[in-house]
Parts: sequence; C-alpha cells; structure tokens
Amino acid sequence: MKKFKRILVANRGEIAIRIFRACNELGIRTVAIYSNEDKNSLFRTKADESYLIGENKGPVEAYLNIDEIIKLAVKKGVDAIHPGYGFLSENTEFARKCEEAGIEFIGPTHEMMDKLGDKIKSKIVANSVGVPTIPGIEKPVTTEEEAFKSARHCGYPVILKASAGGGGRGMRIVREEKDLISEFHSARNEAKKAFGIEDVFIEKYIEKPKHIEVQILGDKHGNIVHLFERDCSIQRRHQKVIEFTPALSITEEQRQAMCSDAVKIAKAVNYRNAGTIEFLLDMHGNHYFIEMNPRIQVEHTITEMVTGIDLVQNQILVAQGCRLDSDEIGIKSQDDIKPRGYSIQCRVTTEDPLNNFAPDTGTIDLYRTGSGLGVRLDGGNGFTGSVITPYYDSLLVKMISYGRTFEDAIRKVKRSLRETKIRGVKTNIPFLINVLNHKEFREGKCDTGFISENPELFK
Ligand code: ADP
Repeated sequence: MKKFKRILVANRGEIAIRIFRACNELGIRTVAIYSNEDKNSLFRTKADESYLIGENKGPVEAYLNIDEIIKLAVKKGVDAIHPGYGFLSENTEFARKCEEAGIEFIGPTHEMMDKLGDKIKSKIVANSVGVPTIPGIEKPVTTEEEAFKSARHCGYPVILKASAGGGGRGMRIVREEKDLISEFHSARNEAKKAFGIEDVFIEKYIEKPKHIEVQILGDKHGNIVHLFERDCSIQRRHQKVIEFTPALSITEEQRQAMCSDAVKIAKAVNYRNAGTIEFLLDMHGNHYFIEMNPRIQVEHTITEMVTGIDLVQNQILVAQGCRLDSDEIGIKSQDDIKPRGYSIQCRVTTEDPLNNFAPDTGTIDLYRTGSGLGVRLDGGNGFTGSVITPYYDSLLVKMISYGRTFEDAIRKVKRSLRETKIRGVKTNIPFLINVLNHKEFREGKCDTGFISENPELFK
C-alpha cells in the first residue's frame, strides 16, 4: 500500500477546506489550485501550497481545465487528486487521465463512473439488480413521436430530465399532453446549453415525494457498507436547502429496504469510494431509485455527525488501498456502524429569500457566526472583509448541529443561526429559521413541495 504524501484538491471554497482538514489530520501535504477570481479566497490560504490556474480562462473554466490541472499535479509531485463535488468530480475523462498520468483519482474508477454517473445508465443498473425505479423508458427521447409514446407509457404527469443533469437543473414537469412538445424542445435546448449533451428522458412525475438518500462507502477489495440515510426533502427548485438524519417519516422496515437496495446497486458495479444512492418515496411509502452520485456530497456532514465516521478521510484511505476493516478505517462489518442522535445541516447562502433567492454579491462588512455545543461549521469564504463574487455558487457556510433528539438538534442549529451576524450581503438565514420553526418541519414530515406550498416561510 502506497501512503499518499501530497494531495491536490481540484476544487474551491468550503469543500476544498474540508478536504485540506482531512489531509492535515492524516499528515498529508495539501496543494490548492485557484482561479484569478479566487486570488483572495480563504481556501487558498488553508493549503500548504497554492497555484494559480486558468489565467486566461473564465472563473469556472479554470477549474475545468483537465490538462492544465494534471500537468500541474505531475510537476508538483502529487500522489492523488481529490475532486470534491461539482466541477470535475463526475468527469470520466478526468478520472481516466489522472490514472494515465499515474495519479490516484480519489473516487470510483472511470468505468464505474461511466456506468453510474448518467441518470439513464444508472437506472438500467438498478433495474438489473431488482431495485425499483420510477416508471419510464430507459433511453433518451429524441423525436416528438418518441416523446408522445414515452409519456403515454408513464401516464401524466411526467417529468422531463436531462440525462447528464445535476443541481436540480434541466427538469420540466408536464401535466397535460398538449404541453409536451414545447416542453420537450425547451428541455433539450436547456440540457445542451447547461451540460453540453441534449439527451433528455421521460419518467413518471411522483406527486409530493420525499427525497431519501443512502450513503455508501466501498474499498478496493470488494467490501461495501452503507452509512444509513439522509432526508433531503427540504428543497427549492429541486435543490436541497436543509438536510437531516435519521429520516423521521419512514418505518424501520423502509429504512432497511432502502439501505439494502443501495448496497445492491453499489455491489452491481463493485463500487468503491464514497457515493450516494438517491431515492424518492411516494405517498404510499414505495421507494424508487432516482440517481447515484459517485462523489462526496454537500450533505455528507450529517452522516459523519451521527456515525462518528470521517467520510473524507475514509475516501482518501480507501483510495490508498486500505480495507474497510483495516486498523486505519476500523469498520469491521456493517454492524459496526451504529448511528446515534440526530443531525441537521442548514445551507447558509448569500441569497435573498425575499427576491426569489437571487444571489447577492459584495463585501462582507461583518462576519460573526454562532457556535457552541453541538454545532459544526464547514465554511467557505466567510470572513469580515471577504468579497462575494457572482462567479460561483452562493454557499457561504454549512451550519450543522448534533442533538440527542431531533428537537434538540433543531434548537441548537436555530440558536447558532440566530447568533450569526452577517452584514454587507444578504443571506437566507431568516428563511432557514422560518423553516426550522414550522410545525411540519419539526414533525419531520415535509415532502419536496414544502417550500413552494408555504409562502409564509418567506416573511
Ligand atoms: P439532480 O441531479 O439535478 O439533483 P435528481 O434526479 O437528483 O436531479 O432530482 C432532484 C430532485 O428533483 C428530487 O429530489 C425531487 O425533488 C425532484 N424529482 C426528480 N425526479 C422526480 C420525479 N420523477 N418525480 C418527482 N420529483 C422528482
């Protein structure tokens, strides 16, 4: 087994800092890359070394420049690259080129990614091992005729999705046949623009579902465990806002069924590293696989809080070749993973909830966060004097709580949000507090329609 000495993080912001912390604890030297626009960003200063990339590229393109990043990694004698989430984290070409350059990509192999990263292909894998998927035809719809056929097969309402989609983008709900064709063409155009691939597919639209996902961890020796579920139903425009674990709206039987289905899918491709299997749960309690995320996720933190397992460190250790049951990782069997208590994550963003969550930009004049017992902060660029630019996503800090009961976890995160003072840019903190105060949230019963159906949350 080769122990990593230097890791390059091909990402920015809070997840870059999170990965540097994991590396520090493991005694690994950290290398950051940053764009021109990120010259003054905090994450840069948290690494042992940092290098400017994509000098003549745009702010986002800089982090997508595969050849330049790999060339730099080779030059700096890096053993492994952690891609974080977003950017190149699900790019099979990047994973393959790292391998070709003799650099370990901290994630699944490019072959596994190819089988699972795409929404259509992963549904085929799920079906092949008997895991229920949402009714639909598992292939891209390319003509108007196929669109009609596919939608009738599912029965209205249907949802059009980009196969390469992500971040809640590229989805359209169609309730009546008369709207299908115009939505079909718009969805294809949007998919092409956002993801470079115009493939869209059609599946049944599930009314008022809950989004429940299962965390998976696998080593390079064929061992796979799950780390239980997260409820990510609090969403706006199909994007997660608050996540918690354990889910309160499911029975023990449903929990076990989803966790074991998640392991089945991971085993079908001999999955390795961290990954998430996402399900929708309908009003009758049936669960359906929707997609697999072959990478670390924003909400991995709450699983860490209740299991005591550091997912990012374990990503690095399994990439190094450690077995799950090794002394370094210490997960001897599935039964070793026993979640305790409750954890909630609130995504604090620089967005104005009163203006349709429009991102706000400018200088932060005052930045003071809550903390205290049971509160964890995974921050990005929050500090007094920090400049929030319009180039990247608006996540400012993840505020995570841990409590003995769900009520306790709510009280702790709410108290910490109230303690927080941020001046100079707008944040969604008042909105988050309104959600935490809502009866339906406190009962743990919300479905994905909760935010759009409760306008009083915006007061
Ligand atoms: P993305 O990759 O963009 O995050 P997902 O497939 O994970 O897209 O779906 C994101 C969210 O969109 C889900 O959590 C759910 O709220 C909604 N969604 C997706 N598919 C369906 C469906 N068939 N029926 C109802 N809602 C859906």
